[in-house]
Amino acid sequence: MTSATDLLTPLRRYWGFDSFRPLQERVVRSLMAGHDSCVVMPTGGGKSLCYQLPALVSEKTAGVISPLIALMQDQARQSVVMREAESGEYRLLYLSPERLARADTISWLKRVPVAFFAIDEAHCISEWGHEFRPEYRQLSCLRAHFPERPIAAFTASATQRVRHDILEQLQLREPHKYIASFHRPNLRYLVKECHDREQSSLLVRVLRNYPNANVIVYAPTIARVEETVDFLEEQGIAAVGYHGKMDTDTRRRNQERWTSDEVRVLVGTIAFGLGINKATVRAVIHLSLPKSIEQYYQEAGRAGRDGEAADCILLWQKRDTGLLAHFIEQVTDPAERERGWQRYHAIRRFAESGQCRHSQICSHFGEKTKWTSCAACDVCGCESQWLLKSMEAEPPARTQLSMPEVTHVQETSARAAESGITGADSELRDYIREWRREMSKEQGVPAYIVMHDTSLEDLCRRRPTSLAELLGVSGFGERKTELYGQSILDALSRFATGARAAPLPEKRTRPAEDTLRLLAEGRNFEEIARIRGRQLASVVGLVADLVEKGKLDFQSAWVDSDKQKSIESACARLGIQWLKPLKEALPPEITFEEIRLIVARLRQQKLRESA
Ligand code: ADP
Ligand code: MG
Ligand code: ZN
Repeated sequence: MTSATDLLTPLRRYWGFDSFRPLQERVVRSLMAGHDSCVVMPTGGGKSLCYQLPALVSEKTAGVISPLIALMQDQARQSVVMREAESGEYRLLYLSPERLARADTISWLKRVPVAFFAIDEAHCISEWGHEFRPEYRQLSCLRAHFPERPIAAFTASATQRVRHDILEQLQLREPHKYIASFHRPNLRYLVKECHDREQSSLLVRVLRNYPNANVIVYAPTIARVEETVDFLEEQGIAAVGYHGKMDTDTRRRNQERWTSDEVRVLVGTIAFGLGINKATVRAVIHLSLPKSIEQYYQEAGRAGRDGEAADCILLWQKRDTGLLAHFIEQVTDPAERERGWQRYHAIRRFAESGQCRHSQICSHFGEKTKWTSCAACDVCGCESQWLLKSMEAEPPARTQLSMPEVTHVQETSARAAESGITGADSELRDYIREWRREMSKEQGVPAYIVMHDTSLEDLCRRRPTSLAELLGVSGFGERKTELYGQSILDALSRFATGARAAPLPEKRTRPAEDTLRLLAEGRNFEEIARIRGRQLASVVGLVADLVEKGKLDFQSAWVDSDKQKSIESACARLGIQWLKPLKEALPPEITFEEIRLIVARLRQQKLRESA
C-alpha cells in the first residue's frame, strides 16, 4: 500500500462519508504502513474509523481491544468464530482486555492473521488517567507476544502524563503521534455555583431553553437521578432516568426512548454514556462537580457532536467539594489518593478560577492556546439571561417540589435557529424521526443504527428523490441505501403530499399525585417504590417533601416509636437544618430515610407555628 492508495472510495462506499475528519486519513495511512501510533482525539472525533478503514481495505484482521466489550459479548467466545478468525474471515475482531489476558487467547490469536492491534480508550491503562482499569495493565504484554504487529493506541482524554504512560506501558516503538486539538469551538461552557433551591430552578430555566432538543442531565447519585426525573415531570418536562441499579430492560427502554427522540431529556449518573452515540445533543447539564477535568470534558463533550452549537452547563454547589474530598479520603492507596487530590484541585480551579473555560481545558491537556478570550464561555462574557436572572432572590421555597414555575426565557432561540433546531424543516424532521422510531422497532435495532442524527439532518436538508440522490446523503453508503432507501423515499413522498408525524403521546406522570394516591390505597413505601420503578430512598424523599409542605400528614407507623424518640431528641440538640450531623449522632441502625421523615414533620410543625 502506498500513500496513493485510494481511501475515499471505501469511505464513500462503506460509510457514506464524503471526506475525512481532521487527522483521520493520516492515522489510517500510518496504520497501513505498519507504524505504531498514539492517537488522541476528542470524543466524537471519529476514532473508530481510523482503525476500521485500514482493516476493511486489508486482507487481514484488526484486533480491537475495548473496555466497552463485555466479556459476554466478546466475539471470540464461540468456537465457530474462533475457527473462522483463524482463516482470516474477519476484518475486525473485538476483544475485551480480560479475554486478551488469557493464555489460550494469546495462542489462538497467534494463528489469526492479525494486521495490527488497536487499543481503544487507551487511557484506561494509566493510573494517572481518570478511568484506570487494572485489566488494561495486562495489555503491556501484547508487545512481547506479538513483537511484529503494529499497535495503535486511541484515547479521547489524555494529559501529557497519561500519554507518556500509554507509550511506556504498551511499549510502542517510535510511534507516530497524532494529537487533535481539545478545543471544541462549537461548545459553550457555562459554569455556575449555586444553592440547592437555586439549582433546581436554574435547571428548569435552562431546560426550557431547549424545548425541542436532546439534553443530557448528569446527576451525582441514583437518588438524585430519580428525584430529578420526578421533579421535572412535576414541572411538565418529560424526562427519563438512566442508572446502574435500573433493571436492564427499563434502562434499555429509557435509553431508546431518548435516542429515538421520543423523550428529549435524559437524566443519568456518570455511568451513562459509555457507548452513547447521539450527535444532536444540544446541552449537557451537570448537577454536581465531576471528579476530574477529564471526566467533565468527556461527559460535557457529548454535546454538539454534530458540530453545531451546543451548551455545557455546570451547576455546582459548594457541598460537592466536601463530598468529593470525602471519597478521596477513603482511598487507601496513598499514591491513588494523591492522584485523587490532584484531580480535585484541578476541577476546583476550573470551576472557581476566573480564567477562560476553553483555554483551561486545553491547557489541562497540554495544549497551548493562542487566544485569551473565547466568546464562548461564562468567563469571557457569555452571560446568559438565565444565569443573570438566577442572581435575583429566589422565593422562600423550602423544598424542591414547591418551586414555582419559572419564566420561560427564550434567549437561546437565536442560537437555536442558527444551529437549525427550529425553522421550516422541523415538521419534516419530526416525520423522519417518526419513521426512524418505527423502523427501529420493526427491526429491533437502536435508532442510531437505522440512521445517525447527522444523516437525518442531512437527509432533511437535501430531500433526495431517488436512490442515487440518497447515496449523496452523509452516512448513506451502499448497504444503508439498500436496506432503507426505498422506505425513506416513500416516507419523503408521503410527507410531500401532506403526511405529518402524529403527536407523541403524553405519557406524563405526576409523581406527587401518584404517590399520594398509592399511600391512600394503603401501600407501603416498598410497594410504592416497586410500582413507580423508583429506589426506596427516592420514594421516602418525596413523601418527606410532601409532609414538609403540609400536603400529607405524618403517620407514626412509618417510623418505629423508639427510633422516633431518639431522632426527636437528637433534633432538639442539633437542630433540623442539616441531616448529616443527625445521622452521625444517631445509632447506625437508624436510617437516613427515618431521619428525613421525622425532620420533615418537625419542619412542618415549625412552619405552622411561625405562620
Ligand atoms: P470517537 O470514537 O472518536 O468518539 P466515533 O468513532 O464514535 O468517535 O465517531 C463519531 C461519529 O462521527 C460517528 O457517528 C461517525 O459515524 C462519525 N464520523 C466519523 N468519521 C466521519 C467522517 N469522516 N465524516 C462524517 N462523519 C464521521
Ligand atoms: Mg470511540
Ligand atoms: Zn472563554
